[in-house]
Amino acid sequence: ADRNPGQPEFLQAVTEVMESLWPFIEAHPKYAEQGLLDRLVEPERVVMFRVSWVDDHGQVQVNRGYRIQHSMAIGPYKGGLRFHPSVTLSVLKFLAFEQTFKNALTTLPMGGGKGGSDFDPKGKSPGEVMRFCQAFVSELFRHVGSDTDVPAGDIGVGGREVGYMAGMMKKLSNRADCVFTGKGLSFGGSLIRPEATGYGTVYFADEMLKTRGRSFEGLRVSVSGSGNVAQYAVEKAMELGARVITVSDSSGTVIDEEGFTPEKLAILMEVKNHHYGRVSDYAERTGSRFEAGVRPWHIPVDVALPCATQNELDADDAATLIRNCVLCVAEGANMPSTIEAAKAFEAAGVLYAPGKASNAGGVATSGLEMSQNAERISWPREEVDGRLLQIMQGIHAACLKYGARPDGSVSYVDGANIAGFVKVADAMLAQGVI
Ligand code: NDP
Repeated sequence: ADRNPGQPEFLQAVTEVMESLWPFIEAHPKYAEQGLLDRLVEPERVVMFRVSWVDDHGQVQVNRGYRIQHSMAIGPYKGGLRFHPSVTLSVLKFLAFEQTFKNALTTLPMGGGKGGSDFDPKGKSPGEVMRFCQAFVSELFRHVGSDTDVPAGDIGVGGREVGYMAGMMKKLSNRADCVFTGKGLSFGGSLIRPEATGYGTVYFADEMLKTRGRSFEGLRVSVSGSGNVAQYAVEKAMELGARVITVSDSSGTVIDEEGFTPEKLAILMEVKNHHYGRVSDYAERTGSRFEAGVRPWHIPVDVALPCATQNELDADDAATLIRNCVLCVAEGANMPSTIEAAKAFEAAGVLYAPGKASNAGGVATSGLEMSQNAERISWPREEVDGRLLQIMQGIHAACLKYGARPDGSVSYVDGANIAGFVKVADAMLAQGVI
């Protein structure tokens, strides 16, 4: 904590990982050698920079840009860019740290990184967003590259923003290689990448349910968020026969006891993706109930899929879900459950998957986008989806292997942390003290 003052999210993420790794490290002391743990909690490089741009009124705006290059041990730095007013050094360091283990879990050769800015895309014109993205890349470009660091989208950074950044990158570097993933299909994007995180979360949850002889068929599901991850989690859960009852955003929650349908999801996508609207607009258009200022966790469900943001599900929310007999919680977002909430789920025997395992489908498919670009080919939808499913099943199996407890239960938290750690740590030990 002394080395990282004012970085609560980063300390939270490191604490959670170290707590779950500790018994494993005690049993395997080679992992405490060569200063390995001290090196692992220190990002290899942090870049912070000024982003100045001119708004539609001719005023100069100044934001702060960041890129955290956490670990290159198993491949180029890889991780998304987040544009949101809540972005700080602490938030991005936590995300880059988590990303390193998550990327290792996918078994693809990707290191860990994360970046972004405190820029708020809400209420900005398309021209302002483009100028901001270009200004951001006018500094970022010197730190990234297809074999160095390959950023992608995250909160506030979707296909449009990735397109503007990839375009500026090409102009500055005079190269067309893959420096961004999450690109549009017309210039190197992969089929299934937009769907991948949401679909992957549901694939992972499905594997968890199978361990109890269950499936999504007929289950009640709550989803939080209504962005990229949430939308495709809703779609896949519906496809597997679940009744999805909620979506939300920072203004409140929509509750629809009849459950989502493909038609309703199309309306949600139109409202959120084309008009940058609120879920309350969606509720109005579909006549569903909207509760302002609340999160979805008080609604009784069998499966909860938090897909909005960090720390959106606290100990009280967890207690309510447990009281309502929730069977499975799989995180589509990064660290949506507080440490206390995660512990409560595990103590109550709820099937609980941390984001670094259950939401790894996004970055895995980004890895597949990199492979396709390097080979200059595009795989069909079924091929990418099939590989995504296989990767999620592989991560689930790794969690079972490393997370099995003597009493026969499984800690997905321990399983994901240890499986990711072993891969990164072995690579670091093999490459000496650097
Ligand atoms: P989007 O920007 O598409 O959607 C984010 C959603 O979360 C919106 O509904 C937004 O509501 C809500 N939200 C954001 N901040 C807050 C807040 N402070 N309080 C309440 N709600 C909030 O982002 P994504 O769907 O891409 O990302 C969602 C989560 O999934 C993030 O944690 C991200 O890191 C994680 N993730 C994303 C991946 C991807 O491939 N996209 C991959 C792996 C993880 P509002 O519109 O009101 O802001």
